[in-house]
Order: sequence, then structure tokens, then C-alpha cells
Amino acid sequence: MSRNVLISGASIAGPALAFWLHRYGMTPTVVERAAEMRLGGQTVDLRGAGRTVIERMGLGDAVRERITHEAGVRFVDGRNRVRASFGSDGDGFVTELELLRGELADLLYQRTRDDIEYVFGDEITDLTETGDGVDVTFRTGPDRRFDLVVLADGFRSRTRDLVFADIARTRSFGLYTAYFTIPRTESDDGWARWYNAPGRRVVLLRPDNQGTTRASFSFLIGHKGLDQLRSPSQKQFLRDHYTDAGWETPRVLDGMDSSSDFYFESVGQMHLKHWSRGRIAAVGDAGYCASPLSGMGTSLALVGAYVLAGELDRHTDHRDAFRSYEAILRPYVTQAQKVSWFAPRLAAPKTRTGIRLLTTAAALASTPQASRLTSRFTNPPADAITLPTYPTSP
Ligand SMILES: Cc1cc2nc3c(=O)[nH]c(=O)nc-3n(C[C@H](O)[C@H](O)[C@H](O)COP(=O)(O)OP(=O)(O)OC[C@H]3O[C@@H](n4cnc5c(N)ncnc54)[C@H](O)[C@@H]3O)c2cc1C
Repeated sequence: MSRNVLISGASIAGPALAFWLHRYGMTPTVVERAAEMRLGGQTVDLRGAGRTVIERMGLGDAVRERITHEAGVRFVDGRNRVRASFGSDGDGFVTELELLRGELADLLYQRTRDDIEYVFGDEITDLTETGDGVDVTFRTGPDRRFDLVVLADGFRSRTRDLVFADIARTRSFGLYTAYFTIPRTESDDGWARWYNAPGRRVVLLRPDNQGTTRASFSFLIGHKGLDQLRSPSQKQFLRDHYTDAGWETPRVLDGMDSSSDFYFESVGQMHLKHWSRGRIAAVGDAGYCASPLSGMGTSLALVGAYVLAGELDRHTDHRDAFRSYEAILRPYVTQAQKVSWFAPRLAAPKTRTGIRLLTTAAALASTPQASRLTSRFTNPPADAITLPTYPTSP
């Protein structure tokens, strides 16, 4: 069916959806607000059904070539002594298919850019649905008309407010995370290192496959709106907030100041009562962000794009397709969004005693016997869906 579909957002969900729509003979156009692909971010996991979708796209080998080869994650104390260690041999804390978010986004872009129109540096400012299409106004480009519009523009999507504001609910965890790349030093080996400082502050350093180190600061705090500040103010805040955190924090703060891919977010979830309205639908974080705490963001984006495209191919009426997409995917998303409000508090204790308790518990949980027992509870529900097989899937 030759539908002309506008997709807003070129990260994971957007290009993946464009890939499948093109495969099914439709004509996707992707509009991205940034001037070019945004390649920042840390390592993301490909798990369960997300991994299967990557294989069905024929990208399994390309992904395997790009994995970060992270050995696992170690909890360290202020003197860099290892308190607990989780290897990357299971599907738990770290999976063996970990790659940089930017590399996955770029891979999806490179595989689609020759067949699909990408418009960078622009965004939707208005959408009006008429009987047989959607009239779209852009910030800079000329007005255009599409059969369908899909929002794939992330957790903080402003376009979503134009369509779904009355049925959208944000769940906040009071947690902020800043991601950025810093120079690698001798203390950075093949392991991710997790350091807790009192005051609910975490520093995480992860090796990448590009000779640098991916750093993040995660912290719980009562202040609202830090994500609305401009980057220089966010960096100044982090400098003040982490000044006495100890361990390798001074080096990380210095690296942050000179990083070119600083990304700061308020961690939360998006709950939309319905994922479509008329000719407009949402996919990935824009529709059902589960938060990085779920470990499922990338898999949900890939699986969501796959199912949405497949259902659009299967149904002549887009309303049936959107209904079916939601019916198939909703239980999977609901499972992924089951993240306890307590999880970030548990991972970022307030006091030194709390940190000692956490690392002792982590050490116990990391023994082979215990990890077999706890993995049932700690592993994300990445396989909790029976993926449909669509007729034109390879
Ligand atoms: C730069 C960056 C770094 C990230 N780093 C991490 C990380 O380290 N760890 C992690 O777990 N998750 C990270 N994420 C989030 C992760 O990519 C998503 O949770 C997940 O992969 C789902 O992807 P998505 O495509 O639905 O949404 P997102 O990845 O959030 O992508 C949304 C895209 O839409 C674009 N956009 C936003 N508003 C508009 C608009 N109005 N019009 C057009 N385009 C718009 C954004 O620039 C972005 O490219 C990061 C996201 C980004 C954008």
C-alpha cells in the first residue's frame, strides 16, 4: 500500500520505522529537529525481542561488529576497590549485545538514507487532520500533506503536546542523568565502573569501542526543572553538586567541561492512554518511554517500529492498523514500565551506611548461585511478547 508517512524524530524508533515502511512499499519522510544525527549517549542493551527485530532487519552482523565488548560492571568504592562484579555473560545487568546508542542510530540512518528523505534542522509546528490526510506546518520548511504522521521524537516530544496533551501522563522518578564522553585514562579498563557517593549521587564510567570513556552522573534531588536549564548552567550545577563526591570525580568533571556530546535528562516514563488519534500515532519513547531504569528503551523502540509498520502493511484502514499495533504491544510495554519508584533510591543511597549495605547486597547477588536466583527478578521482560511474523519479512 503506497502511503506517504511523515515520521518526527531520527534516533532509534524513527529510522527503524522508516526502514520497515520502505520495505513494505510505503513512502516515509523523516524530520529531525537537530541539524544532524545526534550520536551521543552511553551504551544501550539489545535484548530479547529487540534483538530479534535487529536480526529480521538483517543488521545482526553489523551490530555485532559494533559492540563495546564491555566485560561487565563493577561496583567500586572511593579507593577504587572492587566491591561487587557482574560479568556480561548473561542477560542481566549487562548483556553481550551492548553498543553505543549513537552507533545504533547511525547504523539505522546509514541503512535507510539512500531510500528515504531525511529533513534535518526542522520540526513540526502544527498538524491539522482533514478527511483523507494531515496538513503539516514546519518551523522552516514549506507546508506539506501526508497520509499519516508518526511521532518518534522521544520522551520530551513537543509534537506530542500538539496531539495527545490531554491523554498524556508523565511519571517522574526525581532522578536526573547527564551523559557525556571523556578521555580514557589508565584506570579505565574493559569494565564499567559504578561509584556511589553519599547524597544519592552515582558516577558511572563505561568503556566504548572508540578509545574514549562514556561517563554519566545520575542523582536524585528535590529540585524540579534542571532539565530545562541550558547546558552551561547544567554543567555548573553538576560541578557544584559533585564537588566533594570523591573517587575519580574531579577528572570526570573536567572531561564534562570539554565534552562535545553533553546530554542531560530528567528520568521518567510516558503513559499515553491511547497511542494514536486519527491519522497520527506515536512510537518509542514519545509514546511509551519506560526510562533507562527499565533497560528496555531501545528494544521497545525497535519492536514498536516493527509492529507498527507490519500492522500498517496488513491493514487497509489505518485505524485498524493502529488499534492492532496497540493491542499487540501494550502488554509488553506495561511489563517494561513496571519500574518501582524505589529502584533509583535503592541504587543511589543517601548515607555511607546505605552505600555499604548496597555494595554488600550486590556482592552477595553477584555470586553464581545467587545470580541464578535473582536473575528472575532483575532481568528486564525483554522476551515477554510473541513477535508477529509479517508476510514480507525476510
Ligand atoms: C542524544 C541522545 C542520547 C541518549 N543517550 C542515552 C543513554 O546513554 N542511555 C539510554 O538508556 N538512553 C539514551 N537515550 C534515549 C534512548 O535513545 C531512547 O530511550 C530509546 O532508544 C528510544 O528511542 P526513541 O527513538 O524512541 O527516542 P530518542 O532516542 O529520545 O530520540 C528522539 C529523537 O527525536 C528528536 N526530536 C526531539 N524533538 C523533536 C521534534 N520536535 N521534531 C523532530 N525531532 C525531534 C531528537 O533529537 C532525537 O533524535 C538518548 C537519546 C538521545 C537523543
